[in-house]
Amino acid sequence: MNLNKLLKKKNKILPYSRQLIDNNDIESVTKVLKSNFLTQGQAVPKFEKILSKKVGAKYSVAVNSATSALHIACLALNLKKNDKVWTTSTSFVATANSAIYCGAKVEFLDIDIKTYNLDVNLLEKKLSITKKKNLPKILIIVHLAGFPAEMVKIFRLSKKYKFKIIEDASHALGASINSNKIGNCKYSDICVFSFHPVKSITTGEGGAALTNDKKLAEKMRLLRNHGIEKNKKKMLKKSNADWYYEQQTLGFNYRMSDIHAALGISQLKKLNYFIKRRNYIAKRYFDFLKDLPLILPFKKKSFLSSYHLFIIRLNELKKKNYNWIFSFLRKKGLFVNLHYLPIHLQPYYKKINKNKKFNCPNSILFSKTAISIPIYPQMSNSNINFVKKVLIKSLEKF
Ligand SMILES: *Cc1c(COP(=O)(O)O)cnc(C)c1O
Repeated sequence: MNLNKLLKKKNKILPYSRQLIDNNDIESVTKVLKSNFLTQGQAVPKFEKILSKKVGAKYSVAVNSATSALHIACLALNLKKNDKVWTTSTSFVATANSAIYCGAKVEFLDIDIKTYNLDVNLLEKKLSITKKKNLPKILIIVHLAGFPAEMVKIFRLSKKYKFKIIEDASHALGASINSNKIGNCKYSDICVFSFHPVKSITTGEGGAALTNDKKLAEKMRLLRNHGIEKNKKKMLKKSNADWYYEQQTLGFNYRMSDIHAALGISQLKKLNYFIKRRNYIAKRYFDFLKDLPLILPFKKKSFLSSYHLFIIRLNELKKKNYNWIFSFLRKKGLFVNLHYLPIHLQPYYKKINKNKKFNCPNSILFSKTAISIPIYPQMSNSNINFVKKVLIKSLEKF
């Protein structure tokens, strides 16, 4: 049953995540709707400025989705046909698709079964035994559920083996490693955020690519707007005519509208509150669930998770009842989800990799045991208790 059908049937449905919109958001959007520009006005540059300041990167390029941001990030880093990209299979398909758009070959590495992020020891081993011509041009790192990956180690490896790093931080706006906010690009070339309604903040649809490299930022700006340059100083042909503009490369219309950016501006003001609430709910879950036959999210001192998702896993004892428990939770009003089925097992990826096998046992085990339970800022204590009650009931059945 899908969420819309369920919502019609029952009024008490808790989704795994959802947006929080208040009157400030509505006012902010309304202001743009009453202004002269619905797109290509002042709201997008303002949103970009606030966002880069918030996470500590020099430049930010706002676009219409994280998928678009990942695509132009790959292009800006010069990803070409048959280049190699390495990433993890436990992610949303867009992570890998962005590299496929460029004609690159994607190799899936296994996750660490504790953190659900890339297994860095395995990465190091694989890099050391891979022939130079087969080394990756780009590594795309996912901070699954908002828990930061081991960026310091990964960054070190990128220097030794000379690959670029894109962070798919779609889950991780508001997360940090020590005092390094995810998005400051200290340990990566480009960091991408999503503003889909289930993520840390929303613009409806939207995304952004952040970087400290001016050239990369300029390239991405060009790519999001058809490859069209309007800045006289950067034109290839000198012209004083006011009507002159030039298309310098093949770009796209990946622009964010000012309506979306206005929502982003007011949402960003609530980011700290959102992350605090998500961490509060997570803490309650840790207290409630620690004695149940479940595996709870990994925690690490100095790693702040944004808790985009709260993923529980069934242990060996309960694993065989996965389908039953999943359906039971949905029937009882928890709209739980699986994040994610391994990308390499999707029919499309099987088709394009006919003669290739990826060795990702942990991603597979994860997908047979993981359940994302509700977590979002406006969950009440009674909502949290309801989740606990239904979960206990589902686990008692066998
Ligand atoms: C949501 C998500 C995306 C895509 O984000 P959009 O803004 O919907 O394009 C990409 N990667 C991951 C890991 C995501 O969770």
